[in-house]
Amino acid sequence: MLAAGGGVIVDVDGNSLIDLGSGIAVVSVGNAAESVVSRVQEQVAAFTHTCFMVTPYDGYVDVCEALAELTPGDHAKKSALFNSGAEAVENAVKIARVATGRDAVVVFDHAYHGRTNLTMAMTAKNMPYKNGFGPFAGEVYRAPMSYPFRDGLSGVEAAARAIDVIEKQVGAANLACVVIEPIQGEGGFVVPAPGFLPALAVWCAANGVVYVADEIQSGFCRTGDWFASDDEGVVPDLVTTAKGIAGGVPLAGVTGRAELMDAVHVGGLGGTYGGNPVACAAALGAIEEMRTHDLPARAREIGAIMASRLTSLQEEYAVIGDLRGRGAMMAIELCVPRTTDPDPVRAAAVSAYCHQHGVVTLTCGTWGNVFRFLPPLSISDELLHEAFDVVGEAFAATR
Ligand SMILES: *Cc1c(COP(=O)(O)O)cnc(C)c1O
Repeated sequence: MLAAGGGVIVDVDGNSLIDLGSGIAVVSVGNAAESVVSRVQEQVAAFTHTCFMVTPYDGYVDVCEALAELTPGDHAKKSALFNSGAEAVENAVKIARVATGRDAVVVFDHAYHGRTNLTMAMTAKNMPYKNGFGPFAGEVYRAPMSYPFRDGLSGVEAAARAIDVIEKQVGAANLACVVIEPIQGEGGFVVPAPGFLPALAVWCAANGVVYVADEIQSGFCRTGDWFASDDEGVVPDLVTTAKGIAGGVPLAGVTGRAELMDAVHVGGLGGTYGGNPVACAAALGAIEEMRTHDLPARAREIGAIMASRLTSLQEEYAVIGDLRGRGAMMAIELCVPRTTDPDPVRAAAVSAYCHQHGVVTLTCGTWGNVFRFLPPLSISDELLHEAFDVVGEAFAATR
């Protein structure tokens, strides 16, 4: 790749591609966004590293203040910064374990939480994420997810099913935390039925279990709110962030109730590079872009365009079994018509056609049959329509 900007990627041969992936929901503010570039340039010329644990600096504190303000809930919050999403998830589990004095972790079917040893155990899908990489960390238990297209359950029913599994197979008294993506990412953009997340959060609160929202893919304006949890007013005890937080520079965070964060002994959390000054400058630049351009609102507009384009495609092509998502995080699931039998072959064919015709799309899902659309929030309506024209042609050409 040679260059990238507001939704266009130029490759080394000079070909332009429309970007519907944002490097997996990372460059939500656009690639090389102005405020990100200027703040990074300024920071890199001032100092590149001190290690926050040794010599603290303002940028780190400023990012934590922004996280406290933007994440759901108005309780007292604290944050710790890391380098990658997986590292943030690992640290959320560490915090929950110390704070509760319990070991067990509950995750869900189709979950994706990363590729380190603990997060591989938490991730559901074997190939390619886990196969041959075990043995995995213990005390990780999996509960059934709410997946309306496949289970037909209401949110309350699906929550009752999950809670029953947790109570019978784990026991609330052993459980440190429940970790859940409010809209699942790699697992297929599964949006739980309304009521599922609130019911889980209520059960967690009643049982002294830490409710952790993994907002690494769904956070930072992607779904039309600052965080996907906002949609149903769910206030997580801990929130993990990464991907969209810093406009393409590696940064991640755990933000949570001050009393939980403070339960950890001094020196218990950290890392050489966590919250590196250049990454913090990038995050402050990205957050500035999100605020200045009201990117939650823009994500809703993009979502409306995508929903209308995808609805017409679904009417035309029976292979599109489900259309789901929120804001600029939308997906279609391809199945043998009128069944829920996955059709990953058609998904791969449509994806290949799109790429050959200048549109970058991503697939995902446990069966590899889901198309996920994650355009940068800086994309224009024209470019978005142009991209979905190609997606439409791809369905026609692979019929
Ligand atoms: C990408 C992702 C992770 C892992 O983040 P990395 O930065 O790749 O380690 C964890 N959780 C979710 C929901 C993700 O989408």
